[in-house]
Amino acid sequence: MPIRILSLLLILMAAAVAGGQDSQSAISSTRLSDSVLVVDGPNFERHCVAVSTGEGVVVIESLFSTDAADEARRLIESTFSEPVRAVINTHCHPDHSFGNTAFADVPIIAQSGYQARMQMVIEGWSGILTQQIDSLTAQLAETAEGSQDAASLHDALEQSRQTLDFLHNSYVLPSVYVDAGMTLTFGGKEIQVLFFGPGHTDHDLVVWVPSEKLLVMGDLLFGAGYFPYTDESLGGSTANWVATLDRLLQTCAEAEHVVPGHGKVGGLELIRAERQVFQDLLDAAAEARSRGLTLEQALEEVWLEQYRSYAWYDFRHDENLTAAWHALEELEGQTR
Ligand SMILES: [Zn+2]
Repeated sequence: MPIRILSLLLILMAAAVAGGQDSQSAISSTRLSDSVLVVDGPNFERHCVAVSTGEGVVVIESLFSTDAADEARRLIESTFSEPVRAVINTHCHPDHSFGNTAFADVPIIAQSGYQARMQMVIEGWSGILTQQIDSLTAQLAETAEGSQDAASLHDALEQSRQTLDFLHNSYVLPSVYVDAGMTLTFGGKEIQVLFFGPGHTDHDLVVWVPSEKLLVMGDLLFGAGYFPYTDESLGGSTANWVATLDRLLQTCAEAEHVVPGHGKVGGLELIRAERQVFQDLLDAAAEARSRGLTLEQALEEVWLEQYRSYAWYDFRHDENLTAAWHALEELEGQTR
């Protein structure tokens, strides 16, 4: 994972651990039906989805911070007057799983690939945080005591230490791992946990609740205004992601409520729109390849102007174009 991306994630992560981010503003919620409540974290429109079954609530996604997840759980249990029975993590990215701390007493379900990937993330970030702590400590030693700079350095140092401590001592890993998916049944309600292979990461789970026509996609779906992002460092694959979207459009054609990992809840049009984003990205990469550009040259030249205003477009440009490039190589390999 490139350092500049880690840096931003670290800033966000430190803020979540220190009680910023999700907890700065109150959570909000939307009732999709008698049995389904969507609780929104305040930043980047991430969601925690609660499905009431009459025999307890199943929660999908756990938000970014303990504070927000605690608040979400209180709201969910009071809304339905039922306890949470299980949590499903769609993937290991911190903004979807740090809130596991609020659900440590119930089974937390994830795909088998989650654990090793989270271990990688923890080790990578621990190394960087340790370096950062050393660097901040050295800077502090050379800064006049009582100055504004010293106060800022102190705050940054404290946040880094808290984040490191959270990663090693508080982060709650899932307790149940599934390979190919599973079906949970509570109160006669079927909750299908599906796995389609690599996409956003290599361990993305999708949840389909047929009786509610509810499809919760984690970060396999970025809603309107968000550019999707393939995390190849965690085994993501643009080629298989696109194939998964095509499969879901067929197998879950009845879906009426489609919940993205980020962005507003909608219907199947969200999946079609993301499919188009990938098509445009793949077409642009293919056009660059047909002109004989190397990937390095394409990273300088190829921009999808129609998506420049989307959240994270510039930030994820290099990774996304690289992943699209790899997808074309993979597809060419298949047709050879
Ligand atoms: Zn993600």
